[in-house]
Amino acid sequence: MVSPRIAIFPGSFDPLTNGHVDLIRRSTHLFDRVVVAVLVNPEKRSLFSVDERLTQIREVCQLLPESAQIEVDAFEGLLMHYALKREACAVVRGLRSGVDFEYERPMATMNAHLAPTVETVCLLADARYAHVSSRLIKEVASLGGSIDGLVPTSICERLLARVRAETATRS
Ligand code: ADP
Repeated sequence: MVSPRIAIFPGSFDPLTNGHVDLIRRSTHLFDRVVVAVLVNPEKRSLFSVDERLTQIREVCQLLPESAQIEVDAFEGLLMHYALKREACAVVRGLRSGVDFEYERPMATMNAHLAPTVETVCLLADARYAHVSSRLIKEVASLGGSIDGLVPTSICERLLARVRAETATRS
C-alpha cells in the first residue's frame, strides 16, 4: 500500500485568517492529509491561548469541503522533529511578499539539513489576502477598523470581544 502524503502547515495562527484558510484548502489539493500545527511558544505573548486557537481552527476546518483531509494539532520544539514524527513529506509555508521569501529561504535550508526527506513547499498568497497577517488583523481590530472578509466569521466575533476586553483592561 502507498503511504499517504502528509503535509504540515505550521504557524502561530493568532488568530487564523482567511489567508491561512486559503492555504489549508489549496494544500489539501496537493497532499492526502494536511496537519495544521499550532506552534506552542511560551515565550511569545499571544492573544488567544493554544487551546483556544485549536478550537477555533477545528471549528473553521470542520466546515470546509476538504475537512476529511485536515487535522489540527499543536507542537512544541523543532518543527522538523514534529514533521518526522508525523511522517510528513512536506511543510507548507505561505509567501505574501519578498519579505516572507527572505525569511523562509534560510529556514527551508536549515530544515532540509535537519530532515532531508521533508520538502518545504511555498505557496504564493492569493491576491485577496496578500496584505493579511495575524498581527495586522489584531492591530486593525483593536483600533476599530473593519476586518470583514479577512478572518472567518466565527473567529472575527471572538477576536473583537478579546481585543475590546484587552483595551478595557489597559484603560
Ligand atoms: P508564523 O508565526 O510562523 O509566521 P503565521 O500564523 O503568521 O505563523 O503564519 C503561518 C504561515 O501562513 C506562514 O507560512 C505565513 O507566511 C503564512 N501566511 C500568513 N498569512 C498568510 C496570508 N494572508 N496568505 C498566505 N499565507 C499566509
